[in-house]
Amino acid sequence: MTEDKEEKNCYTSRYKALFTNAEDMILFFDADGFVCEKNDAVCKNLGCTMDDKIYMQDIFRTCMSLKDGKIDLIGHKYGISFETVAYRTNETCFSVVAYLAQLQESTGCYGFCRIHDIVQQKETKKELRTAKMEVEETHKERNEMVANVTHELRTPVNGVLGLAQNLLDTGLDSEQRETIELIIQCCNNMIKIINNILDFSKIQAGKFTIEYTEFNFYQMMDKIVKVNRTQAESKGLKLICNVGEDIPELMTGDELRVTQVLNNLLSNAIKFTSMGQVTLNVVKSFETEEELELFFMVTDSGIGISEEEKDKLFKSFSQVDASITRKFGGTGLGLSIVKNLVEMMGGDINVESEKGKGSTFSFSIKVKKIVSEGDNKTEEKTEKAEEKTEYSFNYSGGFQLDEEEEEDNLYKLGSEENIKAIDENCEKLVLCIEMENWNRANSFADTIKLLVADDPMNLKRKAFRLQMTVRKGDHQAALDDYEVLKKAIEEFKLQLERR
Ligand code: ADP
Repeated sequence: MTEDKEEKNCYTSRYKALFTNAEDMILFFDADGFVCEKNDAVCKNLGCTMDDKIYMQDIFRTCMSLKDGKIDLIGHKYGISFETVAYRTNETCFSVVAYLAQLQESTGCYGFCRIHDIVQQKETKKELRTAKMEVEETHKERNEMVANVTHELRTPVNGVLGLAQNLLDTGLDSEQRETIELIIQCCNNMIKIINNILDFSKIQAGKFTIEYTEFNFYQMMDKIVKVNRTQAESKGLKLICNVGEDIPELMTGDELRVTQVLNNLLSNAIKFTSMGQVTLNVVKSFETEEELELFFMVTDSGIGISEEEKDKLFKSFSQVDASITRKFGGTGLGLSIVKNLVEMMGGDINVESEKGKGSTFSFSIKVKKIVSEGDNKTEEKTEKAEEKTEYSFNYSGGFQLDEEEEEDNLYKLGSEENIKAIDENCEKLVLCIEMENWNRANSFADTIKLLVADDPMNLKRKAFRLQMTVRKGDHQAALDDYEVLKKAIEEFKLQLERR
């Protein structure tokens, strides 16, 4: 008996200590809300003494009242904590989280309440919110500044470009012409970079919008293919484009942005491929009454991307390999912009690649259908379908043969196309060696080697030697080896004429 009593006393004193010293306010109340027991924290926080008579409905004025002589929680429930305000005896109030439990004691005690002061917590939250807003504001201002500066930069660069283009029409000797052409090329590169930074800062500032207008899909593809085919062919690459026959001509979407995405992926594919081909395939992947989903695939036979490098691909300012940056240049913004644009057009982008074996970038976008009414439109459609045959890409499978023949001719040593391509690449190569533009020189030297690959020894060996000196970036040796190859090519041409 005595042991039981001692144990009980022990418990009582432990609970008393817990109750008295708790940082949270703890109180017990009667059915009519009278606080019959409270801890020190209640007195400290509410500004009362242990002897003061206080009621629950005085502390929680907004969420408690007396109803039929009983305490009423007005919408709150026992056993669930809720955020509210507690009133001090001096009529001021502060934010708290309250927890109420109902008790059924024979003593008449009706409920238990724990009150946790959250003033500090709220202050911290507010400070964090303000700090976040300030960071966002600074970020926004910085982006606006970058957008303004890049915008301003465009004007002088365009000025230089225009003047250089005008100079081309004046009587220039070949050396001067080559220099002006290089200036034009540098300006175009600079404009590309400026445009990328401008787009990137607009995306960051949330100011980038997609504009939906009606456009002719086939005409857009035609322009894209023409521009990129010139680039590809200057490197001795083949550009093939296949468009699904069931894709309608007219649709509503952002032609400019689709073009931007495709140009970016195609120019990367061409940039990172020195041999083989780049293919662009487009199919209709999904259709509803109002919308079409188009699926694009850009495949190249270039240097490829490793697994670890793939993770960095779509992040801004990331180029997967520093040595690649040195060789090919660029800001590492292109794919990040592309990803944002594709997502804004309701799609997503993926890459499949293996180091050394080429890459495939695929993406989808949504466009709106233009619903045709009546027979007139059908006639119009038939006419347009006939017009399609004039486009420079393959949309129905009938164009492939010519392309194959063209490619065969290009690589057939001594053919008209082959000699023309060798001459063009030689001209560009020597210019790049002179200017010590080794990135481009490398690519022209690679192409020349491919173009003379048919020759069993003579030209091929010389082209290989040249390729190696260009790789080393040795200016004089590259010029010497170029002269040797050029002489051999001229001799080869003379032989051809004599035949
Ligand atoms: P940039 O604007 O500098 O060209 P991108 O964002 O377009 O940068 O590309 C980032 C990097 O991704 C490139 O530097 C290159 O390393 C890699 N990359 C992109 N496309 C290809 C590709 N088709 N083949 C191999 N590597 C690629």
